[in-house]
Amino acid sequence: MAWQAIVPIIIASVLVFAALFIYLIRLQNFNQQIQQANKRLALAEHELREKNVLLHQVSVTDKLTGVYNRHHLDTVLAEEFEHARRYHRPLSLVLFDLDRFKRINDQHGHQVGDYVLTQFARLGRDNVRRSDTFGRWGGEEFLLICPELTAPQAAEVANKIRQLLADRQWQLGFTQTVSAGVCERGDLQSVDHFISAVDRQLYRAKASGRNTVCSDSNQPVPH
Ligand code: GH3
Ligand code: MG
Ligand code: MG
Repeated sequence: MAWQAIVPIIIASVLVFAALFIYLIRLQNFNQQIQQANKRLALAEHELREKNVLLHQVSVTDKLTGVYNRHHLDTVLAEEFEHARRYHRPLSLVLFDLDRFKRINDQHGHQVGDYVLTQFARLGRDNVRRSDTFGRWGGEEFLLICPELTAPQAAEVANKIRQLLADRQWQLGFTQTVSAGVCERGDLQSVDHFISAVDRQLYRAKASGRNTVCSDSNQPVPH
């Protein structure tokens, strides 16, 4: 074959290789872009997951005191009630209400009132089991949900918290006590009945002089 005949083949081969080379370079660039996009996507997913965790925390937390809020207590109570009913397990509630709390606000101001609420919330949260749920029911009322505890056992927890608060020395010189009602689910058939029953025990505790725990299973615990 004459060399003139080979020239076009060489040129064509060079062109094909050049095109292939350019194609490979572009493919590599494209791959890098995809990798970068994947990294950005993974980062965004991580941030989204963190924000979701934060959002969940905010949605279940009482803003002032940092313990669980009413919304979360409602959810947990409904779940625990159903579990206890279905499997015939004990379940008890403790409803705390700070005594004469209005006086603190009136005599020392709302900020001091807020401080007392926050300190009581911390006291409650730090003195219950991990399986219990303690939160702010509203105003100066706090609810403790105690799965697997009978009323006398829950009353013991309530009394310990009551005593800890009563013994506390406050810098401004006042004392703050708390009353609590305790109730075991027994054969109560709805959450509403359960709440009403524990509320009645709280009412008894207030009526018998405050700084007291009253349970559906015994007489007021003297103070
Ligand atoms: P009792 O022993 O009968 O429970 O008397 P009490 O004064 O605690 O009850 P009362 O229901 O008369 O007053 C509750 C007070 O709690 C009134 C309200 O201003 C105060 N309170 C409710 N929520 C907050 C809050 O978020 N911050 C402050 N500082 N006070 C609050
Ligand atoms: Mg109250
Ligand atoms: Mg009160």
